[in-house]
Amino acid sequence: MTRLAQTAGLNDIQREILATVRDFVDKEIIPVATQLEHRDEYPTHIVEGLKELGLFGLMIPEEYGGLGESLLTYALCVEEIARGWMSVSGIINTHFIVAYMLKQHGTQEQKDTFLPRMALGEVRGAFSMSEPALGSDVSAISSKGVRDGEEYVLNGQKMWLTNGGTSNLVAVLCRSDEGHPEGTAPHKSMTTFLVEKEPGFGEVRPGLTIPGKIDKMGYKGVDTTELIMDDLRIPANRVLGGTTGRGFYQMMDGVEVGRVNVAARGCGVAQRAFELGVSYAQQRHTFGKPIAQHQAIQFKLAEMATKVEAAHAMMVNAARKKDSGERNDLEAGMAKYLASEYCKEVVEDAFRIHGGYGFSKEYEIERLYREAPMLLIGEGTAEIQKMIIGRRLLEEYRFQG
Ligand SMILES: Cc1cc2nc3c(=O)[nH]c(=O)nc-3n(C[C@H](O)[C@H](O)[C@H](O)COP(=O)(O)OP(=O)(O)OC[C@H]3O[C@@H](n4cnc5c(N)ncnc54)[C@H](O)[C@@H]3O)c2cc1C
Repeated sequence: MTRLAQTAGLNDIQREILATVRDFVDKEIIPVATQLEHRDEYPTHIVEGLKELGLFGLMIPEEYGGLGESLLTYALCVEEIARGWMSVSGIINTHFIVAYMLKQHGTQEQKDTFLPRMALGEVRGAFSMSEPALGSDVSAISSKGVRDGEEYVLNGQKMWLTNGGTSNLVAVLCRSDEGHPEGTAPHKSMTTFLVEKEPGFGEVRPGLTIPGKIDKMGYKGVDTTELIMDDLRIPANRVLGGTTGRGFYQMMDGVEVGRVNVAARGCGVAQRAFELGVSYAQQRHTFGKPIAQHQAIQFKLAEMATKVEAAHAMMVNAARKKDSGERNDLEAGMAKYLASEYCKEVVEDAFRIHGGYGFSKEYEIERLYREAPMLLIGEGTAEIQKMIIGRRLLEEYRFQG
């Protein structure tokens, strides 16, 4: 039963994939999500199901064993999954960004080595830009990769790696001075290193430690970690694309598709909040009638549904723009900004509709209330999105006087 967030112009394959994912979400994710989340338990069973559905290879080209689907199909799947449980969409997202970066920027050998196993979900990706002292200001990265013969030696501390423990391939952004003399602009002296490791915690490879999981307010189940490099040695052929100094651009390309993904998550969480709110409002009675019959509550539902529709339309527009081969940073920034803000507002309204029960852990909305804020931060905060949007608008609408 869904009138909202429909997408016109999908082909048969897209419709079939989405129907399958929605069915999986209704049967395998929603019934267990809140319990697992409260226990901060990794959803192993769900992840195995996603592997079987081929979701880890959704956008990986068919020649590497993936489904070769578009960003739009991917984003619509993410929306469905986040409707069930946002953490599950987080498990796929960094994997998807790393696969996308390999597809776009990897050497042939890197693609052949990683993409087929990534499509099967055997190799699982994490991506790492943030450090303890920085998130928004990527140009301030201090982790370093220094060439030593046929290897690079990496040192530094990274922060906030989604899937840091469960992944076995991490794309790590470091400063690399080789060929970039003192004074080179920061974004031209960064390199993405493809770091293979064992899944788990502790010293997962000589020189590489993943301390335990960061204890978070929400977005539980999925592991978020630090990463410490202490003379970590990486073969020179594990520089993404084979050339140093391209890391900043490669990461920003990845983040751009990641932003569509975060917008899609906002849409999914908001849809679920609306479903919970509209259902509760028809069951709870006050002053002799269901609260849905009070105009104030109807207005809330109207506002919530309008936000769900608007966010979905902007997210779909941003995905289609990228799929058409055009630059989509403006649309992705707008979609991410609007969808995450609206998601927070829709969740808050659904929470209010639940009255005191929204505060009880027995009700699903309590989980959504702790999940929505993460979307305001991940893949660039609202302020960073507005900076991107503003700069692009000034490029497009340059004063000609
Ligand atoms: C659960 C979780 C998972 C994450 N997963 C990953 C991951 O997988 N990989 C990864 O690399 N990172 C990840 N991150 C990090 C995330 O990308 C950063 O937290 C985010 O970019 C913000 O950076 P920060 O926390 O350092 O905040 P800061 O950059 O310190 O910003 C603090 C505040 O100042 C504002 N601000 C900063 N600069 C400006 C400015 N110029 N003008 C106006 N306002 C400004 C910000 O908007 C924010 O409100 C994750 C974070 C969380 C919470």
